[in-house]
Amino acid sequence: MIITAVDVVRVAVPAHEPPFVWRAGLPGSEPAADGAWLVIRTDTGVSGLAFALRGAMLQDVVDRRIRAELVGRDPIARELLWDRIWELDRIDRFPVFVQGIVDVALWDLAGKAVGLPVYQLLGSYRESLPAYASTVTFGSIEEYLDVADQCLELGFPAIKLHAWGDARKDARLSEALREHVGPDVPLMFDGSAGFDLLDATYLGKALSDADYLWYEEPMREFSVTAYKWLAERVDVPLIVAEVAEGSHMKTADFIAAGCAAAVRTSTGLRGGFTGAMRTAHLADAFLLRAEVHGPGETSRHLCMSISNTTYYESLIVSNPVRRPAEVDASGNVHAPTLPGVGFEEAWGDGVPAPLAAALAD
Ligand SMILES: [Mg+2]
Repeated sequence: MIITAVDVVRVAVPAHEPPFVWRAGLPGSEPAADGAWLVIRTDTGVSGLAFALRGAMLQDVVDRRIRAELVGRDPIARELLWDRIWELDRIDRFPVFVQGIVDVALWDLAGKAVGLPVYQLLGSYRESLPAYASTVTFGSIEEYLDVADQCLELGFPAIKLHAWGDARKDARLSEALREHVGPDVPLMFDGSAGFDLLDATYLGKALSDADYLWYEEPMREFSVTAYKWLAERVDVPLIVAEVAEGSHMKTADFIAAGCAAAVRTSTGLRGGFTGAMRTAHLADAFLLRAEVHGPGETSRHLCMSISNTTYYESLIVSNPVRRPAEVDASGNVHAPTLPGVGFEEAWGDGVPAPLAAALAD
């Protein structure tokens, strides 16, 4: 099999509805965007797809670098092509999602070629996994407690907070939530890189006192040393290396520094399925969990294939809370069934018009 064409099909993505906010200082939910499908086509008629929200960026790097690299290659040579994209990155300094999007399309293609969902091609470990409710930022402690009640009522077994980015207010919220749900509900906190070492330490002590399961990305992940120092100052387990660039190689440095109680992995920030699985296996070698970042089709596959993972992240974006379609009434997410990644599942009977035209060529 040979890659014959690499297309970027631009599509309009409507604004996220309902809109929501993150911590102070960060942009909130995505406004209407110019997204794109990456379409990798072959001489056998089998194609692979992957989606990017930053359509103009993808178009630029595909037109200048990626198409010329991929056309004529064997799409099954994913390890080789993963290396080749990193080589191009050395000159071009790609946005971090570019490492992953080519790899995701290649795995989609491989799954379709043999008629298997990607998680089975990776090697399946399970067929379902509990989802935790991962909140966006709400207005008050009272509203968070109300949202938490709704999440537990809907079947979610665990809750992760994204809060305001004010260490003292966030600590009070974290304590109030623990008091409200009692000792048995696993709770996590995601700082979205909102703090410096002093505030991260203050909040980390509160989370430890309130028996939180993990403390995620309190600081920018530029300084491994800062995380090492934080780990020396707080008892709450740190889950690290969600955003830091460099895939499993950077994750290795966090682990070697002794600050990782667990690590993050994802197709979007770790270089596709290939980088996400390398990261998971790296963590496994140290008996660390690799917890999957963010919801979506590719995350469901990772959750079914990574032995050392325990939850699917389900984003709670509204109050009243609506349970996302992929989570059942017991709070579980299930293995995808379509060949490849199965982006098509969300389309129902129709293919998005611009994509249908490209695939029909
Ligand atoms: Mg996070």
